Amino acid sequence: MAVDEALRQLLATARGTPFTACELVSLRQADGRVLAEDLRAAIDLPPWANSAMDGYAMRLDDLATQPLSVSQTVFAGQAPGPLQAGSCARVFTGAPIPAGADCVQLQENCRLDEQGRVSSLTTLRLGDNIRPQGNEIRAGAPLLAAGTVLNPIALGVLASQGISRVSVVSRPKVALLSSGDELAGEGAILGPGQIFDSNRVVLASLLDRLGCEVIDLGRVPDDPALLRAALTQVAGIELIISSAGVSVGDADCIGALLREAGEVKLWKLAIKPGKPFTFGHVGTIPLLGLPGNPGSALVTFLLLARPYLLARMGVARLEPMRVPVVAGFSWSKAGKRQEYLRVRLDGGRARLLENQSSATLLSAVQADGLLEVPAGETFEAGDVLDFLSFDGVF
Ligand code: AMP
Ligand code: MG
Repeated sequence: MAVDEALRQLLATARGTPFTACELVSLRQADGRVLAEDLRAAIDLPPWANSAMDGYAMRLDDLATQPLSVSQTVFAGQAPGPLQAGSCARVFTGAPIPAGADCVQLQENCRLDEQGRVSSLTTLRLGDNIRPQGNEIRAGAPLLAAGTVLNPIALGVLASQGISRVSVVSRPKVALLSSGDELAGEGAILGPGQIFDSNRVVLASLLDRLGCEVIDLGRVPDDPALLRAALTQVAGIELIISSAGVSVGDADCIGALLREAGEVKLWKLAIKPGKPFTFGHVGTIPLLGLPGNPGSALVTFLLLARPYLLARMGVARLEPMRVPVVAGFSWSKAGKRQEYLRVRLDGGRARLLENQSSATLLSAVQADGLLEVPAGETFEAGDVLDFLSFDGVF
């Protein structure tokens, strides 16, 4: 199955099973969370016309009778009186514009005579250097839509509206486990044939960043009975994410569990790395079965599990941002599967990291992201391909 088709099916399922719980949080708790409500502007922004510069607020028509005496001084945070006819007002950046003034001249474009009267040295137009009321947004206009992932900028927009608490999608409860008889935990001394479990900390951290509540079920041996026992331990789970035990010829306990539960989907994806990615249900709980190889687990999480989770959280923009980059190497052997190459961007060109094995994480940590090579395609150095930056998906 093509990656796009797998994603389409996953997203259709996800949209049919949205996480509906939400909670009110303060802005400082809202970074990275998904906005659960459409928000409109509460106030005009700016709330009143104010000066963009340090200078003098005046009426354009009065410039015919310069110099103008200074009738008042307005700092940011003060409330000015109306502008006296034939005068100007000393204003500083952010100061409200006195009623009747229709432009601001920068102080460096003014000459002051001995009596402190002001002449403009350049011509002005109506509204110069004034930030009009409601220029940024009008009260009642759409501000942020439900499904927006709140980032520091969005939080600033909310703060500028005087909004201090927002409704966000509750953290989905995601159970995470690593399967495999060979896996040893942190602090262990490796026995024969054992390796340390690295997938779980990668996936747990990725899930944290997506705003999930991770329920860590730890390492589970390749034994469907133990696996089932682990999965029935915790209540309220909304999704299970596992790694390993899904490739054909493997001890294959995740696959066995899903087949037993009656449903396995999306076998053998045309993706490299990540072919054995699996989706199914344990009872009513969806399970995303990621491959065991660390490179494959990473790529399938980013390309399939992440958008699936975001879709269930109601996020509008699901797909990782793809940006065109110039390849700094050629690719002469077309693959049968869509391929994700670990590359580093040097001087704006993608450089291929040496070790592209699905079993290694080290080249992924050295990479800036993934270069997407469609199935059946070759390319030359200098050709442009889509690039997915790790920064963008983390
Ligand atoms: P499997 O999908 O079970 O066939 O595993 C594929 C490869 O990934 C094997 O070499 C496993 O030892 C390795 N592997 C499985 N789980 C993990 C894990 N949690 N951390 C690191 N490597 C793993
Ligand atoms: Mg295994």
